Amino acid sequence: AKNIPGNSYSLFLSELNDRIQDRQRVEMALLDAVANKQLYIHYQPQVDMETGYCLGAEALVRWQHPELGTVRPDRFISVAEDSGMIIEIGRWVLEQACADAMKWPKPGKLAVNVSAVQFEYGDVVSAIKHALEVSKLPADRLDIEITESVFVTKQDKFIQTLNEIVDMGVGVALDDFGTGYSSLSYLSRLPVDKVKIDQSFVKNLPEDEQSMAIVQSVLSLSTAMNKRVVAEGIETKDQAWVLRLAGCGIGQGYLFGRPQSNEKFCKMLAIDEPQ
Ligand code: C2E
Ligand code: CA
Ligand code: CA
Ligand code: CA
Repeated sequence: AKNIPGNSYSLFLSELNDRIQDRQRVEMALLDAVANKQLYIHYQPQVDMETGYCLGAEALVRWQHPELGTVRPDRFISVAEDSGMIIEIGRWVLEQACADAMKWPKPGKLAVNVSAVQFEYGDVVSAIKHALEVSKLPADRLDIEITESVFVTKQDKFIQTLNEIVDMGVGVALDDFGTGYSSLSYLSRLPVDKVKIDQSFVKNLPEDEQSMAIVQSVLSLSTAMNKRVVAEGIETKDQAWVLRLAGCGIGQGYLFGRPQSNEKFCKMLAIDEPQ
């Protein structure tokens, strides 16, 4: 089709084409990323809201490409999922993060994001086992973070897989909670010991009444189900204050610390000042 200026349909097609080519470009580049050591991991502190002490960190993958520059995970994780590369990347993240956590000056919890694709095709149980064995990280120092997308298909199978992971002693956190389909009652069926309130609900605290209501109901039900609650994306003292008052035990966000190199995170842990 000819690209007539002002023709919105052909404009749409050419934009679509750009986007497809962009994804292909990212996919091609991603193939080299693991081999050429362009991926690295940053660690963002997770803090005890009562005491202010650091409990551990979430591992967040980063990609430094020689020409593309820093590629954000929002851009490449979905490409990696569609192409299946997330399985290799996810294994690498697990191994590297467990090894890094062994260097921490004190034994905090390490949280690692695991994609639904790893659950379906990646033999996630042996990937976790392998990472723990090689690093010698005690299983109870590891949490995996999963999103509700894991349960969209083959629910029973994945609950079974999760049970195997829990039986190893590894913790499971339900990430981005509140953004998906699941109801709070559904939560009781899942072998999950932590719930992470999505940052979109934290963002407009404390003013926004609707966010406050959601946060409060997640907290009261999760607490009744014996699950700990993590709030993510905390940027202001006011947000931390209302979340703490509402009973949220664990906080994560720029207020407490940005994602940072393991070296910097270790220094922070060593000083060990309440945040
Ligand atoms: P997520 O798991 O929900 O991670 C939280 C995101 O919020 C991170 O973005 C983090 O840098 C950002 N963040 C933390 N505190 C604040 C804050 O106070 N304010 C704001 N505005 N943002 C904050 P990031 O690092 O860009 O990661 C984006 C997403 O990419 C993650 O969302 C996660 O879904 C995915 N991801 C990252 N690493 C991995 C990985 O190793 N494996 C998989 N499967 N996914 C990953
Ligand atoms: Ca996460
Ligand atoms: Ca999240
Ligand atoms: Ca997210």
